[in-house]
Amino acid sequence: MSVLPYPPLHTEAKFVVLSDWDGTITDRDSNDFVVDNLGFGYEKRRAMNLEVLQEKITFRDSFREMLQSVHHPFEDCKKLLQQNIKLDPGFKEFYEWCKANNVPVIIVSSGMEPNIRAVLSTLLSPEEALKIEIIANDVKFTDPAHTGETWEIVYRHPESGFGHDKSKAILPYRDLPSKPTLFFCGDGVSDMSAAKHADCLFTKLMANGDSDLMAYCKRQGIPHVPFTDFKQVLERVKQVVEGKPVAEVLKEAGN
Ligand SMILES: [Mg+2]
Repeated sequence: MSVLPYPPLHTEAKFVVLSDWDGTITDRDSNDFVVDNLGFGYEKRRAMNLEVLQEKITFRDSFREMLQSVHHPFEDCKKLLQQNIKLDPGFKEFYEWCKANNVPVIIVSSGMEPNIRAVLSTLLSPEEALKIEIIANDVKFTDPAHTGETWEIVYRHPESGFGHDKSKAILPYRDLPSKPTLFFCGDGVSDMSAAKHADCLFTKLMANGDSDLMAYCKRQGIPHVPFTDFKQVLERVKQVVEGKPVAEVLKEAGN
């Protein structure tokens, strides 16, 4: 069950793009950045990441603990992110093309929605940053005046070990009477649950050529198209919208 609302489905769309935010649309993970700079720091954060990968602790519980180490007002965290997080160099053009061609783009994130909009407002127009669809977690201000002096994360799916089960953003599209072609872009562990439900999965590579999601897809035999920049995603999406079969795009990418 979701404690947060979902935007209405695009029931008439022929193509839909869902994309992870941190490390996929952005140049680095914004939550890691906050924890490393305002919370308990890189070493402890990294050690907890490894515990999650070894399944000693859930992503949900580890992420909550990381955020609890950040004893700064929420507004300060937002400002730090606005100053430091940049977009993938091809994202703006990709987003604008999708908008002009009636292809909905939906951000699906394990981060907190207000932070995502704050960063977007520095990179897209303020109106665009308010309008873009985001399915993420949220924040609750816990100080008496509710100004965000103290705060905590609100998970969309508190019962899920992921806190936000991303498959629930994509699966309803598969059940539509006229199912759209589904694209999903991601890079990490939190994208694994959604990855196998896309028709065409794009896996973002880090500068060193690695990607946790790509490694997972290789192990599981999930077809995917690696990319380093949204310009490459745009090229492929354009081809499919213009009529090229997804199977062909996947084949060309080495699947
Ligand atoms: Mg990510």
